[in-house]
Amino acid sequence: MSAPRIITVGSVNLDLVAACETLPRPGETVTGATFAQYPGGKGANQALAARRLGADVSMLARVGKDPNAELALALLRKDGVDLSRIVEDEAAQTGVALIGVDASGENFIIVASGANAELDARDVEGAGPADAVLCQLEVPISAVIAASQIASKLFALNLAPAMPVPAGLLETADLLIVNEVEADFYGDALFRGDGLVAKTLGRDGSVLYRAGKEVAHMPVYAVPVVDTTGAGDTFCGALAVALAEGMEEGAALRFASGAAALAVTKEGAQPSLPWRSEVEAFLA
Ligand code: ADP
Repeated sequence: MSAPRIITVGSVNLDLVAACETLPRPGETVTGATFAQYPGGKGANQALAARRLGADVSMLARVGKDPNAELALALLRKDGVDLSRIVEDEAAQTGVALIGVDASGENFIIVASGANAELDARDVEGAGPADAVLCQLEVPISAVIAASQIASKLFALNLAPAMPVPAGLLETADLLIVNEVEADFYGDALFRGDGLVAKTLGRDGSVLYRAGKEVAHMPVYAVPVVDTTGAGDTFCGALAVALAEGMEEGAALRFASGAAALAVTKEGAQPSLPWRSEVEAFLA
């Protein structure tokens, strides 16, 4: 079977992570931290997840004309995501997430969206065709709406982070993906269309609904948990790939759960995203 074509419309960030013993209170300085930087952003993470799971992926996004852009796009480039439609914004910086993590794993995150906030319907129009279009809510809603209009087969929308969106967008989505916080935020509005809704429940697994009725349920795979960052993004990328390939709903949910479980066994978001062969071996 040939690889499905997936377009991801979303955010690209550079994550700047300082690990320290205790997080500072407002006005306080803590020293002795160690520093690392990683490519991130939900859009980029999900694009890379889908790519490693076997799709031909094209990423539509905006970055700044600055050195952070190349760092943020490095793994996408290395693993063969098509970046030809990435726009270099002359006036905005590449998105940055400032992350502090303490010894217990507690964190704070400050996101400076930069160029992500400038992504525009015109950056999206004319793209395609694709077997699936995958979006999140870290870019302006005008870009997400434009993405829904280029999606002729499967429009998949991860409603993260939760924020008000036009009701019509929820109704036209072929697949909505939410975690527990987002499910509470959107409530019944998730179930007004006739598409699929996937709800992830952290350690309690995931559920897939069609027209409000449960069609599949997966407990989590028991794995050694190293870092759950990236589990949700892996789940989204994997479910989009599976459904774009025409996998049956239960099998698609199982594939996404297996991929997400592998992502929690490794440190970091993008470096921990599993490859197709690893997921197939894990589920065999
Ligand atoms: P988010 O990070 O977006 O809040 P969840 O925490 O709900 O997402 O996790 C997404 C999916 O990742 C879950 O539905 C599950 O399949 C998988 N997952 C999450 N935590 C674990 C875990 N500890 N062990 C195995 N799989 C996990």
